[in-house]
Amino acid sequence: MRGASTAINAIGDGRLAAEEIIRELGVESENSTSSVFLTPDLNELQFRKSIRTKEQTPHESSLKDRANFNLVMETFSTEQATLEASRCLSCDQLCSVCVSVCPNLANFTYQVTPKTYKLFKAVAVEGGNPEIVPDEEFTVEQPYQVMNIRDLCNECANCVTFCPSAGKPYQDKPGISLSMESFNLEEEGYFLSKLQNRTVLIHKHHSRISTLSLDNNLYTYETDQVRAILDTETLALKEVRFLTACVKEYRFSFAAEMSIILKGAMQLPF
Ligand code: SF4
Ligand code: SF4
Repeated sequence: MRGASTAINAIGDGRLAAEEIIRELGVESENSTSSVFLTPDLNELQFRKSIRTKEQTPHESSLKDRANFNLVMETFSTEQATLEASRCLSCDQLCSVCVSVCPNLANFTYQVTPKTYKLFKAVAVEGGNPEIVPDEEFTVEQPYQVMNIRDLCNECANCVTFCPSAGKPYQDKPGISLSMESFNLEEEGYFLSKLQNRTVLIHKHHSRISTLSLDNNLYTYETDQVRAILDTETLALKEVRFLTACVKEYRFSFAAEMSIILKGAMQLPF
């Protein structure tokens, strides 16, 4: 199709062709993102990565048997092609290379449901409660997310070397501390506090603190400027109060980010 090109382009073209065929056949997709492929379970993907399945090799005729017009190298049978395709590790869906290469197990993969949330913002009203008005959308595109466990990371940068996206996972990913002691040493990061009747995610950026508490299917988001109640399913703003007179407008995209990180932090095995 392109003339001489790269294997990556060939793989991409093959994927587009496969998606088109699947669409034409009317196969339903459970994935809400653009891909028509189904989202496999995290455990299933990780298990698949842990076992080595040998490749299929097409039959190749011996040197003595080539004085004819038969194919020297035969194409795969349907069974062989199916087996070969089943070796795919779906690394386009679950990378987590930074998780598997970390010698300290300091990166953690967690699963969330991809979804678009219609956020609201609060606008100050003279002499009254802030008005709640529609704001931008907040989209979680990928079902598999990564966080960095600060207590276990010695910043060796091995994950940087291996990240296929040229990222710096231990710096780019949200960093969560397992103890208040290590949280106090961080300039920026998260700490999960599990109390008797609620779970609180605390975020610190230098001296600024934001908290997101989960209690009775509601989130309470608090900073030094605002206190707000959000619905856990939709992130719709239910109540809001400005804590200082200088706030004229407040947006909640960071509260939305914290809700995703809270979901991940609650999946930590510690
Ligand atoms: S920098 Fe941290 S997360 Fe990355 S490989 Fe080293 S210890 Fe693991
Ligand atoms: S940070 Fe890099 S290695 Fe880790 S999941 Fe993302 S792309 Fe993969």
